[in-house]
Amino acid sequence: MKVPESHPRYLSLITRDRLVDGWKKGLVATQGLIAHGRGEAFDYLLGETTTKEAEAAELVASYMLVTAKKPVISVNGNVGALVPDGIAALSDLLSCPVEVNIFHRTEDRVRRLAQHLEDHGCRKVLGEHPDSRLEGLDHARALCTRQGILNSDVVLVPLEDGDRCQALRSAGKKVITIDLNPLSRTARTANVTIVNNLTRSVPNLIEGCRVAMEALSMGRLTLDDVEKEIASFSNEVNLMRVLGAMIGRYASENMSFE
Ligand code: ATP
Repeated sequence: MKVPESHPRYLSLITRDRLVDGWKKGLVATQGLIAHGRGEAFDYLLGETTTKEAEAAELVASYMLVTAKKPVISVNGNVGALVPDGIAALSDLLSCPVEVNIFHRTEDRVRRLAQHLEDHGCRKVLGEHPDSRLEGLDHARALCTRQGILNSDVVLVPLEDGDRCQALRSAGKKVITIDLNPLSRTARTANVTIVNNLTRSVPNLIEGCRVAMEALSMGRLTLDDVEKEIASFSNEVNLMRVLGAMIGRYASENMSFE
């Protein structure tokens, strides 16, 4: 069935279609569909919009990415199915690799995902041939590459699970995540959590990085400014504010279902 553009839930419905398509192509794990459902529930509470808290986190994340020495983008099935073009554009802008890392790992799915990302323009896709492991994790999620995650300083890991996020932090990485659930272990463990839908946040990050790179090269922004902005960001405070915004939308006296 083709969803008409006039449908009030058009964006949500075509996003579901894209995930189901990714599942049929063997990119998305069945469990990934359930994870998406949890994300949708939180997005509903957010009003399916980019909040000012998400904008603040996206700005700091952009600053961290453009000033990183070895940034990496870690990609799982849902991310690959939903925003492959955005991941390609962001990795191109940052000249950084993309590393496939999936919770329900099968070699076939890793291969398909890597191929899919290449088909969408990702120039350097790692993860098919891991040569190291992250400490503190059992299971295939620990697998990583020296060229990518192992020696990176900043990792963007949209839709991560809490254990791996903690393992990345314990390995000394700065972790940026995109997660619609401000209460998840990942959200609370990362250095910077963007509580936003992946589909809205990745384009924002591309624009944020582009603007920051241009401002740095023109001297309108200095490394000192960037460092101060990063240092003054509190993930904990920002998460509290997002939670407040979610609840406040429905608990205010002027409650409306707009
Ligand atoms: P944690 O271990 O961090 O507590 P979890 O086990 O609750 O995580 P997972 O199943 O590992 O969660 O991952 C799903 C997460 O991804 C959920 O928190 C969900 O809100 C989030 N999510 C799903 N779809 C999207 C999306 N499109 N954009 C952003 N976040 C999403």
